[in-house]
Amino acid sequence: MARKVVIVGTGLGGLSTALRLTTLGFEVEMIEKYHQPGGRLNKLQHNGYTWDMAPTFFSMSYEFKELIDFCGIERPFDFFELDPLYKVNFSNSKKFFTIHKDIHKLAREFEGIEDDFAEKMYQYLEKTGKLFHDVENRIVHRNFNSLLSYALGLASVPWGHAPLMVKSMWDELNRRFTSYEVKVIFSLVAFFLGATPFDTPAVYSILTYTELKHDGYHNVRGGMYKIVDGIVDILSKRGVKFHYNTEIVDFKYTNRKLTGVIDQNGNIWGADIFVVNADAAWFRGAILKRKAYSENKLDRMKWTLAPFTVYLGVKGKIDGLSVHNYFLGTNFKEYSSKIFKNQVSLEKPYYYVNVPSKANPEFAPDGNESLFILCPVPDLRYKPDWTDSNELAQNIIVDLSERVNYDIAGNVETQIIYNPAHWQKMFNLYKGSGLGLAHDLNQIAYMRPHNTDEMFKNLFYVGSSTIPGTGLPMAVISSKLTVEQIVKRYDDRKN
Ligand SMILES: Cc1cc2nc3c(=O)[nH]c(=O)nc-3n(C[C@H](O)[C@H](O)[C@H](O)COP(=O)(O)OP(=O)(O)OC[C@H]3O[C@@H](n4cnc5c(N)ncnc54)[C@H](O)[C@@H]3O)c2cc1C
Repeated sequence: MARKVVIVGTGLGGLSTALRLTTLGFEVEMIEKYHQPGGRLNKLQHNGYTWDMAPTFFSMSYEFKELIDFCGIERPFDFFELDPLYKVNFSNSKKFFTIHKDIHKLAREFEGIEDDFAEKMYQYLEKTGKLFHDVENRIVHRNFNSLLSYALGLASVPWGHAPLMVKSMWDELNRRFTSYEVKVIFSLVAFFLGATPFDTPAVYSILTYTELKHDGYHNVRGGMYKIVDGIVDILSKRGVKFHYNTEIVDFKYTNRKLTGVIDQNGNIWGADIFVVNADAAWFRGAILKRKAYSENKLDRMKWTLAPFTVYLGVKGKIDGLSVHNYFLGTNFKEYSSKIFKNQVSLEKPYYYVNVPSKANPEFAPDGNESLFILCPVPDLRYKPDWTDSNELAQNIIVDLSERVNYDIAGNVETQIIYNPAHWQKMFNLYKGSGLGLAHDLNQIAYMRPHNTDEMFKNLFYVGSSTIPGTGLPMAVISSKLTVEQIVKRYDDRKN
């Protein structure tokens, strides 16, 4: 008889794990706190408008290909590469920098701003590309089951990369480029890790290589939620049952075996194997009551920035905006080094705007636009009070109106705001941190909460706060690493 697996959470990590496990013949049942699947990869609909709720593009598309090939399925969604990638505006200028993948075209954007841009960028990409290929299989795609194996893995990375481990991403950019604009724009990738370039190790400059050179960024036709729709459809056909509005709050065990997880209504969900897709650090503390993950300990760990998100339905078409846009100020160093701890005013914040209706016209009524605004902000440890949410949203809308020369404020038909407290409540994101645990060198690979449990032999973890880390492709890799652990432990030929 097939072994039964209960997966707690239907984020991309949980869904990809379910796809792999059903392919291998396991029976899977999924339990989800939210009212629909997807976790952070979700969608919002209101008043005729649709928005991707959080992720708006993804990199490393070949990780989805690996998943699809492993599961022997047709690709359940259609995606296309972005080129140009995005536009950037600084508050002291009307200019929008268009970030092309073609380096010569890109160089034209920085004419008169950065001398020898193309040559410097080629050198930067050569260095970061080499590093990317040196760490991808040695570190990112691996389960490390002991500190020794991690140390050996690290030692196998060519020593020439060592300086990038100790300096910050900003220091490395500062060494290679002279202009404020170039340094700021190519350090934005640090925010994709939920951090700033000042506290992100330079090794993550590999993200510039993935964005400009390696595989680029991709959008999903019909919106990002098509990924979830497509996977859930396949899983349902495979007999997977989904239970929504069901939150796991407790557990049962005998000896070193978890025997059931218990929901808010006292129902016990039993299985042979359990996979937790809820945040791997938070779950160990809040549900399993592990001392190493008490609130005190979690508070001392480093978490990624929290999201402050605004979803707008706006009358009329806004020509000044592209699908992906960044709006930045002129005090980047001060702003981003102080934002974490709420030491800088949020009156003039830095933010990202996505206009999904430009790529998917059905996302807004004819002639109108749907806008998603994302502003990285301090988490609830540093800013517990969000009663100023409306004011903050209004500041952004007024600033955006001026910068794109369109009266957005006067044309808003629909507005939804999610502050970090909402994000915490919706998906149990620790203190509202948007991307889970940060990726400092002491919080990655073997040092990150493991995908196998310390006590229960039949409990595993998948998703952002376990290995390898955050973002959609990482959730897919995480499912691969977790399933490898399950297969290793439940390989019937060995038992
Ligand atoms: C604002 C924002 C923008 C982002 N943009 C991008 C982007 O453009 N590109 C990109 O690649 N990544 C992006 N990310 C990151 C990406 O969304 C995440 O890394 C990824 O979706 C995480 O997937 P996951 O499976 O780890 O976790 P989640 O999506 O968080 O899934 C975990 C699930 O577990 C459920 N759960 C939690 N606790 C319980 C419980 N006790 N009982 C039952 N269910 C529970 C939650 O409700 C949730 O559905 C963004 C994230 C945010 C917040």
